[in-house]
Amino acid sequence: MAKPPKFQAPTGMHDILPEDQPYFQKFYSTASSVAGFYGFDKIETPIVEEAELFSKGVGMSTDIVEKQMYVLRTRGGDYLALRPEFTAGVSRAYIEHGMFNLPQPLKFYSFGPLFRSERPQAGRYRQFHQFNLEVFGEQNSVMDAQLIQIFYNILTELKFKNLVIEINSIGDSQCRPYYKKLLSNYLKSRESSLCADCRRRIKQNPLRVLDCKEEKCQPVKAQAPQIVDHLCEPCKSHFKEVLEFLDELDLPYRLNPYLVRGLDYYTKTVFEIFEETEEGEKMGSLVGGGRYDGLIRLLGGKDTPACGAAAGVERIVETLKARSKKESSLQQQGRGVFLAQLGGFAKRKSLKLFEELRKAKIPVAESFGRDSLKTQLRIADKYQVPYTLIIGQKEALEDSVLIRDMKTGKQDSVKLDRAVAEIKKRLK
Ligand code: AMP
Repeated sequence: MAKPPKFQAPTGMHDILPEDQPYFQKFYSTASSVAGFYGFDKIETPIVEEAELFSKGVGMSTDIVEKQMYVLRTRGGDYLALRPEFTAGVSRAYIEHGMFNLPQPLKFYSFGPLFRSERPQAGRYRQFHQFNLEVFGEQNSVMDAQLIQIFYNILTELKFKNLVIEINSIGDSQCRPYYKKLLSNYLKSRESSLCADCRRRIKQNPLRVLDCKEEKCQPVKAQAPQIVDHLCEPCKSHFKEVLEFLDELDLPYRLNPYLVRGLDYYTKTVFEIFEETEEGEKMGSLVGGGRYDGLIRLLGGKDTPACGAAAGVERIVETLKARSKKESSLQQQGRGVFLAQLGGFAKRKSLKLFEELRKAKIPVAESFGRDSLKTQLRIADKYQVPYTLIIGQKEALEDSVLIRDMKTGKQDSVKLDRAVAEIKKRLK
C-alpha cells in the first residue's frame, strides 16, 4: 500500500477541488439571487470574533460553545474564537454600526466557512460552509414564514424534491422558564431512565433532552410535557400565525414537539428543513433557523426582534453532485459519438471532424492519444455511445468515414462532408 503523504488536510476539513467549484458556485448564485429578490443585502464579518461573543450569545451550555468551539489566545492575551455560526457575528455588526437607527427591518445574507470541532462523519465536518440569512427589527410572524419560504425556494430551484419542514415554538422569557421547570421536574422523576448526557442536561439545559437521539431516552421523551401546551398568549398566537402563513403558502410542514435546536438564543419559532427519501426516511437536515428576539439586547444593543436561518452548503452540494453524476451517465447513454482514428493522416482528418461535431453540438468523445483500434473501441464501449466514427488510412485517403452501430456492429461508409448530417439524423 502506498504511504500516505506527510501532510494532509486537518481532520474533518476538506479542500474544495476545481471539479467541485461549479457546484458551490451554482448553489451560491441560486441562493444569493433568491435572497436578493426578497430584499436581502450581503454582509461579511470576520471569521474570528471575541470568544465571549459566542459564549454570551449562543450560550455557555450549548454543544457548539462548550464542546466544539476553536478558541485561540492572541499574543496580546485576548481570546478569539473561529466562528461556529453566523448569527452572533452579524448581530454584533448590527449593534456596532448603530444599524438600529436605519429604517427597519434590515435583512442580510452571508456565505462562508464555519468551524466546529465535531466528531467528523458523513455530512458533518469541522470546517463547513453555510448560507445564512438574518432579519433585524421585524417581529411580525410573516417574517418567520417568509424565511422558510426563501430556503424552500432555494432548494426547489436546485431541484430538491420531497422536502419537509419541521417546526416548533419554544416560547419566550415569559413562558419558557415555567415550562423548563415543569420539564425538569418530570425528567428528575425519570432520571434513572435517561442517558448520562441527559442526566447532566436536566440541570443545565433540560430542553436539550428533547432532541437526544439515544434509544434509552425515547420513552421518557414520548411522555414529557410539550411546550406548545404551555405557551403564553403572545407566543401561542405568533405560532398560530406562522402556521397559517405556511398553510397559505402551501408549504409542507409538520409539527415536531421535540425540535428545540441546540442554541440558547432562540425564542418562539424554530424550524429545520430536510429531504426525505422516496421511502419517507428523513435525511440529514439541510437548513435550520428560528427567531431570537432577545439576542440583540443580550449582546448590548436595543430591544430588537430578529430571526434568521442557515443552510449547510456541503450537504446540498453533495446531493447536487450525486445527481449530476447520475444525469451525466444517463445523458452519455444513447447520446453522442466516439471518434476513433488509425494513423497520422487519419488523425489529422479526425481533428477536423471533431471540430465540426463540436460546432454542430454533437457530444463527442475521443482518445486521440491511442493508436490501436481495438483499444479505442473498448473505450467507446465504456462511454456507451450508440455510434463510433472510424477514420482509418483508407477512409482518410478517400475522404470518408465509417459509422459503426455499436449495438449491431454494422458499419456504413459515408463521405466525410456528409458525416455530421448523417450522425445528426441517426441520433434524432
Ligand atoms: P445549525 O447551524 O447547527 O443549525 O446548522 C444549520 C445547517 O448547517 C444544518 O442543517 C446542516 O446542513 C449544516 N451543518 C451544521 N453543522 C454542520 C457540520 N458540522 N458539517 C456540515 N454541515 C453542517
